[in-house]
Amino acid sequence: MSNAEQEVIVGIDLGTTNSLVGVVDSGFPIILADQAGHRMLPSVVQFPADDSGAEVIVGLAARNSQVVHPERTVSSIKRFIGRSANDVSTEEMQNEQLSRTGSDGLLVAGKTPEKVSAEILSELKKTAEYALEQPVSRAVITVPAYFNNTQREATKKAAELAGWKVERIINEPTAAALAYGLDREGEEQLVAVYDLGGGTFDLSILQLKEGLFEVIATAGDTELGGDDIDQAVAEFFLSKMELQKEDLESSQWAELLRIGREAKEYLSENEAYDVRLPFFREGKSWEFSLTAEQLELLADPILLRTKSICQRAFAEAEAKGKPQIDQLLMVGGSTRMPLIARRLKEWFGKEPQMSGNPDEAVALGAAIQAGILCGRVRNVVLVDVTPLSLGIETFGGLMNVIIPRNSTIPAKAGEMFTNAVANQESLAIRVLQGEREMARDNWQLGEIEVPFTPGPKGSARVGVQFTIDQDGILEVLSRDTSTGEDHILEIRNAAVDVDDEAVEKMVEESIDFAFEDMSERIWTEAEMKSRELLPAVEAALTVVGEEITDSEKLEIEAAASDVASLLELPENRRDVNALKAANQKLDDATQTLAAILVEKALDEAL
Ligand code: AMP
Repeated sequence: MSNAEQEVIVGIDLGTTNSLVGVVDSGFPIILADQAGHRMLPSVVQFPADDSGAEVIVGLAARNSQVVHPERTVSSIKRFIGRSANDVSTEEMQNEQLSRTGSDGLLVAGKTPEKVSAEILSELKKTAEYALEQPVSRAVITVPAYFNNTQREATKKAAELAGWKVERIINEPTAAALAYGLDREGEEQLVAVYDLGGGTFDLSILQLKEGLFEVIATAGDTELGGDDIDQAVAEFFLSKMELQKEDLESSQWAELLRIGREAKEYLSENEAYDVRLPFFREGKSWEFSLTAEQLELLADPILLRTKSICQRAFAEAEAKGKPQIDQLLMVGGSTRMPLIARRLKEWFGKEPQMSGNPDEAVALGAAIQAGILCGRVRNVVLVDVTPLSLGIETFGGLMNVIIPRNSTIPAKAGEMFTNAVANQESLAIRVLQGEREMARDNWQLGEIEVPFTPGPKGSARVGVQFTIDQDGILEVLSRDTSTGEDHILEIRNAAVDVDDEAVEKMVEESIDFAFEDMSERIWTEAEMKSRELLPAVEAALTVVGEEITDSEKLEIEAAASDVASLLELPENRRDVNALKAANQKLDDATQTLAAILVEKALDEAL
């Protein structure tokens, strides 16, 4: 192994709801995916029954079967790490999973929070080693800015239990600011980071000066997040059903919460969600819908609680002579709700910034910090900006932006891609420039064909990296991560030297056609989802179809045939909402089937 390989340091976002691991690879931060292609690991741990000798299960499988084994499944452990039984309220203590050690330590499901967190961190280690194909043991780990020393030490201890050497513990808002590239903006500035995740909220105010961040103020609530909105939605469902929570078994309530969360996430981009609860209770079925507007009414009082917390932090900053915020960043999965950006603008008169994936920003920032520590990221000098976005064409003819318009150069960014179909032998990378959603409406700067080892769908991992140097030369490098083979395409000046008029025309067109472009992108995305679902459902029916009831099978087949017929409609009769709803319905109808598949996989693994 070369020195460079030994030196790799990864960045870890150990989150309350989800955890991620990232690394700077060939100059750009990426989130690593596990063997199943998932980049987000639910922070849920399921311990085996006492005498079974089975392995601990971490992540999605643990989350999916939490309802079945609540007594030995732990979620949101971050809330308890580094806290003593004396710091925990009686109400929390009554939570059946919590108990006290002789020395006032806390146990959750009979385990120390460090031990539970270590299981998550071990799983992330496996992901990192799988994705990077080498042993990995050095990490930068993020913690909330308000974590005290004990909580930081406990996090470090958990990482050590999992075999990590902790190079640095950094604050989550600092990591987010790094991911937004703020450390590269020369001037001194004050940055507020609004972080609303699944179970926690915090607002931190950082001062950036000469590339260093200092936490000026922080305020938060460790019991406030997207989960509260799920709860409000589930209660709304109950009122629609004219039931009380006491009427339900705990698994039925858990199911309402799950649907509530799904509806909430769906409504971040859609107008209405249809709730269907066939034979939900005592043979009775329910059907009703939740609109985006109703959701906003339910979410508003919860969001309002974040306002006063923000005001507390702003007041603290003001008391320290820092009254004026220069930037407001949003991170955490819940900030995907469009209502949040609107409210922030209203409350604080400042347009918040959000990256494409607010739930990845902290991990990407941790990866950047790790990259800086191991010399994979150089501090760059700013000289110019890219006049138009640069990207490549991806599945379905969509434009995938790699370096956005107005990025400072030199710039370096990239992404990992995979094969869309089994046994594909190569990936054609068309390098594009422009602001339109569909690849064909942008300008093609060049093309390279990257051969890779044929394998099942999703098995190839091709990294594509765009580098624009000081002189405006764009180099496109693509690497098949399994062979390490590189392909390079160099595009001289075209990427930066573009006639002002042409830039203006492109930007204008992107605005004029914004609606059509977006509709086409949304259709293409829904269509891709259908094309992924249909064969998967068919395969699942072949494997475990015998294990569901005839009526379930009929329901699935009907849902699949709805999707298939919507796909066949001629272009002028396409109905994207119907297709999305049909996808959703098919997804819902196959929940039991999916659970059986998971059970089967678990049984086989045991
Ligand atoms: P995080 O802790 O940052 O991973 O965020 C998890 C929270 O984000 C959960 O409450 C999710 O339901 C929520 N979330 C994820 N995606 C969306 C979405 N599209 N719209 C609204 N909330 C979302």
